[in-house]
Amino acid sequence: MDDIVIIGAGEAGTRAAFAAREAGFSGTVTLIGTEPHLPYERPPLSKPLDGAVQMKAICTAEALEAAGIAYHRDITATGIDAKNRTVTLGDGRTLPYGRLLLATGARPRRLACPGAGRALDFRTYRDAATLFSSVEASEPAAIVGGGLIGMELAAVLRDKGVAVSVIEAAARPLGRAVPPRFAERLHARHREEGVSFHLGLGIAEITPDAVVLADGSRVAARTVISAIGVLPDIALAQRAGLATANGILTDPFLCTSDPHIFAAGDCAAVAQPGGGATRFESWRNARSQAETAARNMTGAHEAFAALPWFWSDQYDLGLQVTGLPQPGHQSILRPVAGGELEFYLADGRLVAAAGLGTGNGVARDIKLAEMLIAAGIEPDPAALADPAVNLKALLRSARAA
Ligand code: FAD
Ligand code: NAP
Repeated sequence: MDDIVIIGAGEAGTRAAFAAREAGFSGTVTLIGTEPHLPYERPPLSKPLDGAVQMKAICTAEALEAAGIAYHRDITATGIDAKNRTVTLGDGRTLPYGRLLLATGARPRRLACPGAGRALDFRTYRDAATLFSSVEASEPAAIVGGGLIGMELAAVLRDKGVAVSVIEAAARPLGRAVPPRFAERLHARHREEGVSFHLGLGIAEITPDAVVLADGSRVAARTVISAIGVLPDIALAQRAGLATANGILTDPFLCTSDPHIFAAGDCAAVAQPGGGATRFESWRNARSQAETAARNMTGAHEAFAALPWFWSDQYDLGLQVTGLPQPGHQSILRPVAGGELEFYLADGRLVAAAGLGTGNGVARDIKLAEMLIAAGIEPDPAALADPAVNLKALLRSARAA
C-alpha cells in the first residue's frame, strides 16, 4: 500500500502533494482540507492590495488535476487509525494510506476575558473578508497583540484611515521574531502614522465600544482584532497517540513517532542537532519542510536543514530576516540604499542577517547573505559593514577559499 494521504491543504500540505509528484511518486495522492476554497496563501491576507482582500491561490484546479492530486475540500479529517493505517473523514469515509502527512497548521490563540467573543480572529480568507467588510474608516479599531499580524494589520487599517490602537502585553511590539533594532524602527514608523500603543498591559474586558485594560483604562474600539499568536493544530495527532509537545514531534527527517506518519509546516516541532525541537511559523519553512517530507515519504532520507527566513511588509517598508538572530551575537550594521542591513556573527562566523528598507529593497542583499551563511564564512567585520564592499565579491572569495 503506497497511497499518500495529506491532512491540511495549506502551504505545507499543498506543496507536499506536488513535491511527491516531482519526486516521481506514481501512487495515489489525496489532499484533505477543511476550508472550502482552492488552497491559498495566507501572507497576502494581511497585505491587501488597494484595500481589497487578496485570494492568492497556491495552485489552480487544473494543476491539481494534471498532477493527479485528489483534492477533497470543505471536509475535516476526524481520526487516524495508526495501527490499520486509515484516516476517517467528517462524512464517515475512510481512506487507507501507506504514508500520511500531517500539515494541519496552527489556529489562533483565543482571548479569555469577558467579551472575548467580540474579538475577530485573523487566520483564514473568511476572517480577512469579515474584517475588511466590517471595518469603517469613521470607527476606531483596536488590535490586541503587537506581533507580525497585529502590526501588518495596523498598517493596512491606517492606510484605510481607521483610528488604530495596538494593545500589547509585552513592553515592546514585535518582540518575538524581529531583531530589536528593526522592531524599534517599525514601532516608530507606526507611531508616526498615528497608531496609538498601549504596552505592558493585559486586557480585562471587551465591551461593544471599548477594550478595558487591566489598569481599568478604556481604549475606544468598535472593531477588535485578536492577534495574540497561534497554537499548533495537534489534536488529531494526539488522539492518534503520536508524540507531541509544542507541536507534532518529528525526527530530523520530519517523521513522527509513527514511521508511516510525517509532519510539516506550522504544526511540526522538528528535532534539532543540539537537542530539543523547534517549530517555525513562516511561509518558506512550510514549503521547504513540505518538500523534504514529500521526498522522505517517497523513499529519500534527507534531514531538514533549511535556514529560517521570513518577511513582513508594513506601510512602504519591507523587512526580511534570515537565520535566528540572538541577543548574544556580534552585530554588524551596513547602510544600503533606502534602508539598513544587520549581520549577526557567532564566534566570528556569519549565522544570521536582517534588513529593513523601502519596498523589497533589501531582498537581494538578504539573498546574498543567505548564500554567505551557507558558505560558512567568517567575514572581516569591517568589510561586512562597508557598503562599498560588494557582498557578491565576498561570496566569490569565500567560495574560492
Ligand atoms: P496552514 O496555513 O495553517 O494550513 C493548515 C491547513 O490545514 C488549514 O487550511 C486548516 O484548515 C487545515 N486543517 C487543519 N486540520 C485539519 C483536519 N483535521 N482536516 C483537514 N484540514 C485540516 N509567513 C511569512 O513568512 N511571511 C509573511 O508575510 C506571512 N504573513 C502571514 C499573514 C497571515 C495573515 C498569516 C495567518 C500567516 C502569515 N505567515 C507569513 C505565516 C504563514 O502563512 C504560515 O506559516 C503558513 O501558512 C503555514 O502553512 P501550513 O500549511 O503549515 O499551515
Ligand atoms: P505573534 O507574532 O506570536 O504575536 C502575538 C503577540 O501578541 C505577541 O507579541 C504576544 O506577546 C502578544 N500577546 C499574547 N497574548 C496577549 C494578550 N493577552 N494581550 C496582548 N498581547 C498579547 O502572532 P501573530 O501576530 O498573532 O501572528 C500569528 C501567526 O501568523 C504567527 O505564526 C506569525 O508568525 C504568522 N505571521 C507571520 C507574518 C510574517 O512572517 N510576516 C505575518 C503575519 C503573521 P508574547 O510573545 O509575550 O506572548
